[in-house]
Amino acid sequence: MDEPTDPPPAPERRRTAVAGSRLAPLQEAWAAYVEHARHCARCRDVDSGACSTAERLWRAWREASGQAMRQIRQG
Ligand SMILES: [Zn+2]
Repeated sequence: MDEPTDPPPAPERRRTAVAGSRLAPLQEAWAAYVEHARHCARCRDVDSGACSTAERLWRAWREASGQAMRQIRQG
């Protein structure tokens, strides 16, 4: 299935996409999750069960990634 090829973005628009907040929340959410998991005793111990903080951060990342995907699809 062939999809129409979009024209390349104008320089102005490309600069906005890089400087804008399209990826920043996603990267921040991921960094927060990784940073927590690295220092949390509960996350490091597989026998201690689920960590609610890690779960919350993971969900926040999933949410941010879903939002980023929607923004990319909408262009
Ligand atoms: Zn944890």
